[in-house]
Amino acid sequence: MARIGFVGLGRMGGPMARNLLKAGHALKVYDNDPAALARFDDNRAEKARSLADAAAGAELIVSMVPAGSNVREAYLGQGGLIASAAKGTVLLDCSTIDVATAKEVAARAREAGLAMLDAPVTGGVPGAVNGTLTIMCGGDAATFAKAKPILAGMGRNILHAGESGMGQAVKICNNLVSGSTMVLLGEAFTLAEKLGLSARTLFEVMSTGTANSWILNHLCPVPGMVAEAPANREFQANFTSTLMLKDLRLAQSAGERSGAPTPMVATAISLFQLHANSGGADLDPSSIIQLLRGPAR
Ligand code: NAD
Repeated sequence: MARIGFVGLGRMGGPMARNLLKAGHALKVYDNDPAALARFDDNRAEKARSLADAAAGAELIVSMVPAGSNVREAYLGQGGLIASAAKGTVLLDCSTIDVATAKEVAARAREAGLAMLDAPVTGGVPGAVNGTLTIMCGGDAATFAKAKPILAGMGRNILHAGESGMGQAVKICNNLVSGSTMVLLGEAFTLAEKLGLSARTLFEVMSTGTANSWILNHLCPVPGMVAEAPANREFQANFTSTLMLKDLRLAQSAGERSGAPTPMVATAISLFQLHANSGGADLDPSSIIQLLRGPAR
């Protein structure tokens, strides 16, 4: 059992914190939005009044906040997690953020005598609720070995991807493929409609052929093909086009910094931005098919 400070109780962080409680750990939870803190109603957890309070007495700190700017604010500020944690505390940031910020925050942690992993996740809200996330870690091997049993309370597949920033590198490469695939599936099903081809036939051929993918089997953009797909409930979602746009931009900026060409990402970003501007921002990203189909006549 470990004493854990948990920061960020949103769609993902809330259920991840509950799973750590279920695994028997002692949690002090914090969110800088008082409504999110109030919504966390598991009374096995103590509620912290500030980041410093969440860090006090923790052997390990887990954070799950939206973006790099939130990670900087939580870890680097005065009264932030790095300034408040005791030497030897292990810091695990599970947010999806840019590689450069992940590396910088880990370096600042090291200077303060703290070990840190970037540990972004994939598997969405269902994975967070069921404790079946895949967690991709960047940092040194000794810290990974220490953190792995704790991470196992939130995920099923816990991987060491390499040095600091490499967890984020895996995550953004993965989401580059997911986002681009959603655009391609939207394009294929729209073309099928225009050609008079049945969506069922296309689904059956693709899902047993060379175009098969996890995205097709879980997030098929046409209703009635896959039981759990957001297309069956008007694309109501936990993961949104806005979050997909954020992840695609992370891939684009990593490409710019490293010299890797990302032409598919550039196209996907333009399409998701158009979609977000025309009402799709809060819908599941598989709703990109609506943009490709155009307005219903
Ligand atoms: P969310 O907006 O639902 O929750 C984030 C929480 O962090 C909010 O409650 C917010 O108030 C809190 N927060 C922000 N800054 C803070 C700070 N400085 N101190 C304390 N609390 C702070 O977001 P989410 O959907 O849970 O996503 C979190 C991260 O997980 C993102 O990086 C996202 O890209 C990634 N992710 C999300 C999903 C998904 O399906 N939603 C899937 C995989 C990964």
